[in-house]
Amino acid sequence: MQIQQNISLKAYNTFAINVTAKEFAVFSSLEELQELLAYNTNNENLIIGGGSNILFTKNFDGLVLKNEIKGIELIKEDNEYYYIKAAAGEVWHSFVLYCIQQHYFGIENLSLIPGYVGASPMQNIGAYGVEVKDIFYELEAYHLTEKKQVNFNLQECEFGYRESVFKTKFKNQFVILNVTFRLHKKPVFNISYGAIQQELEKMKITQVSAQAISNAVIHIRLSKLPNPKEIGNAGSFFKNPVIPNEQFDQLKKLYPHLQGYKENENYTKIAAAWLIEQSGWKGYRKNDAGCHNKQALVLVNYGNATGKEIFDLSTAIIDDVKTKFSITLQREVNII
Ligand SMILES: Cc1cc2nc3c(=O)[nH]c(=O)nc-3n(C[C@H](O)[C@H](O)[C@H](O)COP(=O)(O)OP(=O)(O)OC[C@H]3O[C@@H](n4cnc5c(N)ncnc54)[C@H](O)[C@@H]3O)c2cc1C
Repeated sequence: MQIQQNISLKAYNTFAINVTAKEFAVFSSLEELQELLAYNTNNENLIIGGGSNILFTKNFDGLVLKNEIKGIELIKEDNEYYYIKAAAGEVWHSFVLYCIQQHYFGIENLSLIPGYVGASPMQNIGAYGVEVKDIFYELEAYHLTEKKQVNFNLQECEFGYRESVFKTKFKNQFVILNVTFRLHKKPVFNISYGAIQQELEKMKITQVSAQAISNAVIHIRLSKLPNPKEIGNAGSFFKNPVIPNEQFDQLKKLYPHLQGYKENENYTKIAAAWLIEQSGWKGYRKNDAGCHNKQALVLVNYGNATGKEIFDLSTAIIDDVKTKFSITLQREVNII
């Protein structure tokens, strides 16, 4: 196990922000993690996976620990489900493809989301009508101060829209070691969301399969989202706001084209991208920090933006949307 000093984190975050970590190490087992934590008792720790949901706003004055614990295992099955345990350091999209190949169904809509398995429950990742909570069974995490392993079931994770206990009451307390998913033995496809159906038609697919849905999702994502390898970004920077129905009805009178999605009886979810676009930020650029010209929800680093510049841009957008619509956007990306 190697501990590197004063290294650039540019290659370890998809925003490609060039900050340094005082120390940096990779761990590939619980024992290695424990050794590194014992070494670093006086400094802060930061656990990272693929760095695709992080904005570094300054140098990190502690030890960055990159999770590389690998392994995928079918641990049990019953009449309806397979239970597959994946180590936190597995790359999410490779895991999705592995499940599709093995005919484990229900995960295909989550194709091509960047990052690692370990971060997937952190914000209950979701796309195209499916969230991790829909296929989650349990996870195992390591408590950083109590130094013990703890299991969390579905209820205990308290999943919400881009939320879990690991972002709220247990923030920075646990390292997720592995996640067990409960996947269908028989296909239960979900193609009603977004443009999946149209994409399948365009692809001339007559027989829907998990592989075809995955391919459709991949095509849509590649056409809509900037590739972090070309332009630094962390996907959606803001969450879609959930507002009271009365507020939605008032907005709809002013903006008849506004789309809303019923969240529950009293609340409606609306697109943050629409609010940002209406406020005139889509395509905005100052130095190398910008709001993407095709997808207003995505803030981008055109090259040498600092994390502070991106953060300040996000604050200006939040303030402006608040003034215009009385809605406070919440950041989805973790600010470090
Ligand atoms: C182009 C693009 C598209 C995206 N699309 C989507 C999308 O459709 N849906 C969606 O939900 N998200 C999306 N994201 C966001 C991102 O891919 C997910 O949030 C992903 O799960 C982050 O994984 P990661 O390994 O990169 O996490 P990191 O960015 O490394 O970490 C994220 C947070 O989790 C913590 N963390 C990471 N691993 C662990 C662990 N093992 N234990 C404890 N804490 C940990 C970190 O400290 C940090 O706070 C997108 C991002 C990009 C760049």
